[in-house]
This record gives sequence, C-alpha cells and structure tokens, in this order.
Amino acid sequence: MQRRTYAMGAGTVDWVREDRRLTDVLLAALGPTMLRMILAGTEDAEDAIGPVPLMGDMGAVTEAYIANQAGRINRATRSRIGNAQQRLLDTDDQDRFLSDILGAFGAAAAVTLGVTATTGAYSMGSQLVADSVERSGYIVETVWHAERDACPICQALNGTTKESGAWTQPPPSPHPNCRCWISHTYREPEVVGRNAPFTAEREALQVALDKDRLYGRSRALMAAWRRREGRTF
Ligand SMILES: [Zn+2]
Repeated sequence: MQRRTYAMGAGTVDWVREDRRLTDVLLAALGPTMLRMILAGTEDAEDAIGPVPLMGDMGAVTEAYIANQAGRINRATRSRIGNAQQRLLDTDDQDRFLSDILGAFGAAAAVTLGVTATTGAYSMGSQLVADSVERSGYIVETVWHAERDACPICQALNGTTKESGAWTQPPPSPHPNCRCWISHTYREPEVVGRNAPFTAEREALQVALDKDRLYGRSRALMAAWRRREGRTF
C-alpha cells in the first residue's frame, strides 16, 4: 500500500490571516490585562522610588507581545492538526483522531490556554515595567507569589526573591495552568555612579554629589566672570 502523506493544509487555511484574527481576539482579551499590570507596576515603582521613566511605547510593546503569542498558539494548533491528520492517514484510527482533535480543541484545552495566556499577560505586564526601570539604573528584584492551591513546585517558589530577569521561566512556567504571579521591589543604587539612571535630574544629582568637581568648576566659572566683567558681586 502506498503511504499517503498529509501536506499541512496548504491552500486550505490562510495562517497569516488566522494569526491576524487570533491577534485581534487576544488583544481584546489580554491587552487590558497587560496594560493594567503596566499601570499597577508603575504605581508600585513610583511608591518606592518616585517618578519612573518608562522606556518605549508600552502600548506598542503590548501589541507586539500579544501578536507573538497568537503566532505561537497558531503554530502549535497547526502542528497538532497536521499530526492528527497524518496519524489518521497512516492508521485509519478514527477514535484516535477524535481524541487528538478533542485534546487540541476541547474544553480542557480552552481552560489551559485561557489560564496560561492570562498568567503570561500578567507576568509580562509587570516585567515590562521592571525591565524599563532597571534599564534606567535602579536595582530591581522579583518576588514569586504562588496561589494557595498551587502544585508543590510552585509552592516551593512562593515568596522567593531573585534579581530581575534571573527567573529563566517566569509564570506561566514551570508548567501549563500555572497561576503564579510576580511582583517587583525597587531601590536606588547605593552608589550614584555608572549605574545611575540616565535622566537629566540624575546626572545633575551626580554632579552635585561630586563636591570637589562642583566646587572647582564654580570657582573657575566665577574667576572667568570676574576677569570678563572686571568686578565682583
Ligand atoms: Zn505556578
């Protein structure tokens, strides 16, 4: 018997269009969550260290993240459909095909996708603020929070703290259906120096703290003024 093969739905599904459609749906469902987390994260940071400069257009970053998630979800769906159809062609096992498809599209799959995507949007929203604040020179730490009914892996992580970005797998990792969330703590660098925020005020503060430099410079300026004007105050 000649082995039939399934060509991944070419010509039947426009995946570029599907990516756009899913992006629209996810933007409506997850966009407000992410933006709310960005807002809440910004307020937390401002409580800790005063006004924070957010780097980049958070709306655009949110959209880009969500479009990326839509592409990932569609790629996973596409490969599941392809694998299920290929198995059906290879084995003619229709019961298996049904369970494959239900596994990909049934209620349990929908719940997992919903929980995982929402948790991811939560994490990403707060992480965006943390990254932005950290890039402007502050020290940021991430705290892991597990829900009370979390699995043993997540329970063990509850309350643990790491430097920002040190979690290689923030929620929804370490597993699908993870409902953990992260928060951040912020503090100013202990030494105002190379790591200090790159804002104009921060630069001015750094100059002010460098007393010798400030004093020397103002004396030189004053001497030049006297020479030019031929007088003192
Ligand atoms: Zn978890």
